[in-house]
Amino acid sequence: MLEISNLYKSFGNLKVIDNLNISFSSNKIHCIFGPSGCGKSTLVNIIAGTMDYDKGSINGMVGKRISYVFQEDRLLPWATIDENMMFVLESGFEKSRGQQTIDKYLSLVDLLKFKNHYPEELSGGMKQRVSIARAFAFRGDILVMDEPFKGLHLEIKKDIMDYILKEWNKDDKIIFFITHDMEEALYLSDYIYIFNGPPLKLKRKIDIDIPHLEREESKVKLRAKVNDYI
Ligand code: ADP
Ligand code: MG
Repeated sequence: MLEISNLYKSFGNLKVIDNLNISFSSNKIHCIFGPSGCGKSTLVNIIAGTMDYDKGSINGMVGKRISYVFQEDRLLPWATIDENMMFVLESGFEKSRGQQTIDKYLSLVDLLKFKNHYPEELSGGMKQRVSIARAFAFRGDILVMDEPFKGLHLEIKKDIMDYILKEWNKDDKIIFFITHDMEEALYLSDYIYIFNGPPLKLKRKIDIDIPHLEREESKVKLRAKVNDYI
């Protein structure tokens, strides 16, 4: 369980987070949905520890390792794809897994052939896929994905989402997932949080209580569940 209490964050005069109280249970996929600029990335950056906050407390993060797919790919331009992957494994004290792990995840995102290429030789969507593979290879306790599938083809997106459902959706993991695509949200989430802002305010939390395997068939019913709030 991750608990956020009385959280505040401003940029100059802009109050992006203004006394936010919210908790997120473990072993669930939490989808953060809301208009551009409402404060979604700010919230997940604070959770991931890549951004400071002004006031408040976050409980449940001690000793947790974070896998982060940033909104932008953040690959090292001077390193090959393979080296970019290796870098997180080494910094994440997982040396022993090495090359095999890298190859496994690059295959998942269909980029094994490109492992000796440099980021500038890849398209935006391909770089995004590398950053997804990199986050998976690191295998943190918390997976944070900020609009990870933007611009990806449906087929590869589905493979990645199915992988998350199969391999990540267990143990004590917590998955945060920001998207503007309600179809993705309905396929992957256990809970959808509809926010507005700034300041970031929860408008509605929707429990998607249909087993993942039945979601394709329940699409229309699911869509009706959220339509009133978006
Ligand atoms: P979202 O991810 O929901 O689109 P963000 O959390 O990125 O929104 O941003 C929320 C608001 O905070 C926006 O108005 C944005 O311009 C502002 N903001 C975000 N990061 C910074 C920053 N580092 N410096 C100044 N303003 C920022
Ligand atoms: Mg954002």
